[in-house]
Amino acid sequence: MFVTSVVGSFPRPKWLIEARKAFEEGRISREELREYEDDAVKVVVKEQEMVGVEVISDGEYRRFSFLGFIGEKVEGFSLIPVSRLAVSAEARSAIEAMSFPERAVRNPVVVGRISRPRPMALDELLFLKGVTSRAVKIALPSPYTVYWNAWHHELSKPYYPSPDAMIQDYIKVLRQEIAELFEKGADFVQLDEPAMGNLVEAGEDKPDRYKRLLTALNGIRYRGFRDELALAVDLINEAVKGFGGRIGVHICRGNWPAPEEYLIRGGYEKLMPAMLDMKAKQLVLEYATPRAGSIDAFKEHTWGGEIGLGVIDVKNPEIETPEVIVKRAEKALRYFDPEKIWLNPDCGFASGLPWPVSTRNIALEKLRNMVKASEILRMKYRASER
Ligand SMILES: [Zn+2]
Repeated sequence: MFVTSVVGSFPRPKWLIEARKAFEEGRISREELREYEDDAVKVVVKEQEMVGVEVISDGEYRRFSFLGFIGEKVEGFSLIPVSRLAVSAEARSAIEAMSFPERAVRNPVVVGRISRPRPMALDELLFLKGVTSRAVKIALPSPYTVYWNAWHHELSKPYYPSPDAMIQDYIKVLRQEIAELFEKGADFVQLDEPAMGNLVEAGEDKPDRYKRLLTALNGIRYRGFRDELALAVDLINEAVKGFGGRIGVHICRGNWPAPEEYLIRGGYEKLMPAMLDMKAKQLVLEYATPRAGSIDAFKEHTWGGEIGLGVIDVKNPEIETPEVIVKRAEKALRYFDPEKIWLNPDCGFASGLPWPVSTRNIALEKLRNMVKASEILRMKYRASER
């Protein structure tokens, strides 16, 4: 009960960011960059072990971003700066409405046929397993988020007439990857699905701000809240069907450094009951930020699987005490057995290399208190005492 884990990304050490820049400018080789990455991953692994997190990640230190890395690893995608795609007045206004870090973000855009000549994240898993004996989590971009981000009405059209045609090839690649990750010992595979999470802000005829931006960037059409939600669930179910391993779907409201008023807001009740049709083992949800609403979203709808409960607000620099975290977890006990509750931060601490939402020290101190909270909760809710 109350297993502790992370959502994935950590702020990169300064020297790793500098090494990456040196690689992109041709000053160091890929092999040299890999040495920096290996060192950085060892550090973040040891840090998670030191504070006592049980199911750990490699900090996503080898990736440009949680999403962008498919532009580096999967054939058919290319990383394109958002500032280059944002040419229309609509795009400019959508970027302002979100205070979106357009100069930092590069999107993976489909510029060819999608295939998997080499694995996406298997190298990350194998290295991680070589440096820790703890259970490990690997996150991959979820298909509905890729659907919205990757198909472009001009650049992708020669290869796929529509995002629907494109996404089937991505799901094929994703399923091959998930199968290999489980075969080689991944304990947890997580699909990151902010495009679905952002629907909490959408109406039937009015897209959320993130989709408004992507329509302006990519020329994708919003088909209405109900159809979008159904599409998200269908694509995820296609991706996860038949796997026996632990697959979680992380449904968040996006993760970029901006003042609160620019960030997406709304409770999960908006996505129910469709969200609960997902054939995943765990829902990895935000619940520390007040923007995520109340756990009472589960009052009238039952989720039989696990919940990865967000108990750490990644964007708020204030370090939660163990007592505050215990209280957050206890709210979930109204609707979930302790055995079904995992503790994790709301989201990653740095979903992309150039835009951390926290510092390395704050992130670690927050995790340290999350582990302490788990110990308190385990004492309090031991099966024998219930
Ligand atoms: Zn997230």
